[in-house]
Amino acid sequence: MRFGLEGRSVLVMAGSQGIGLATARGFHALGARVCIAARGAAALDAAVSAMPGATAIQGDVTDRGDIARIIETAGPVDVLVNNAGGPRAGRFEDVADEEWTAAVELTLMSAIRATRAVLPHMRAQRWGRIVNISSYGVKQPVPDLTLSNSIRMAVLGWAKTLADQVGPDNVTVNTICPGWTRTARVTSLLDNQARDSGVAADELARGLVAQIPLRRLGEPEEIANLAVFLGSEAASYITGTAIQVDGGIVKGYA
Ligand code: NAD
Repeated sequence: MRFGLEGRSVLVMAGSQGIGLATARGFHALGARVCIAARGAAALDAAVSAMPGATAIQGDVTDRGDIARIIETAGPVDVLVNNAGGPRAGRFEDVADEEWTAAVELTLMSAIRATRAVLPHMRAQRWGRIVNISSYGVKQPVPDLTLSNSIRMAVLGWAKTLADQVGPDNVTVNTICPGWTRTARVTSLLDNQARDSGVAADELARGLVAQIPLRRLGEPEEIANLAVFLGSEAASYITGTAIQVDGGIVKGYA
C-alpha cells in the first residue's frame, strides 16, 4: 500500500495531546510535514520536541482570528485534521443557551472555518484531504452527552454535503467516530460522572468496558491509524464516510 505522505503538509488542530497528538505523530512517522495547533505553549513545545521538523502554532480553535492566523502561518495545507476538545457532558435541562452557542463554536464552526481557509489550495492543486475527528455518538447517542450528540450531527451533515461539492476537485472529506479512548477527555468525563453519581470512577470504567465487545478502551494511536489512512493517497476513493473506531460499542449496523 502506498501512503504517499512524504512531503505532504498536514495541519492537525488541537494536536498537542490525546487523539490529535497521536494523529500528528502518525503522519510524522510516514514523512509528512506536520504542523500542530493548540492553545497551550508548554504542551505544544513538548509535542513538537518529539517530532523533528514539526512546527507548532499557538491558537484557540474557537477564535476565528486565531484560525485565520494558524492557517496563514501553516502555509498551504494538503491534509487538514479538524479536531478540538469535546463539549461538556450534561442533561438537556442543565444546558444553558450560552453553552449551546459555545459548543457550536467549538465543535462545528471550528471545522467550518478551518476548512474554508484550506480549501482554495486543495481545489487548485486537485488534491486534498479533510479528516474530522468526531465521536461514535453520531451513530448511537452517548447518554447525557447532549451537546456532543447534537452538534456532531451538524458536522456530519456539513461534511457529507461538502464531500459532494469538492469531490470533483479530488478533495475528500471523511469523519472518524472514536469510541471510548484512553485520553484526558475520558478521565475527566468519568471523574465528573463519579462526582455526580457517587460511584467510584474505577467502577464506572469497569461498567463501560463491559459494554465494549473488545473489552477495553481504545488507544489514541488506534484512532490515529484511521486518520492517517484517510489523509493519505491510499484512501483515494473514500469520501463522505463516517467510520467508527470503537471496539464495537455501536450495536447497530452503522
Ligand atoms: P483530549 O482532551 O485528550 O484532547 C483535546 C485537545 O483539544 C487538547 O489538546 C486540548 O488542549 C485541545 N483543545 C480543546 N479546546 C481547544 C480549543 N478551543 N482550541 C484549541 N485546542 C483545544 O481529548 P481527546 O480524547 O483527544 O478528544 C479529541 C476529540 O475526540 C474530542 O472532540 C473528543 O470529544 C472526541 N472524542 C473523544 C473520545 C474519547 O474517548 N477520548 C471519544 C469520542 C470522541
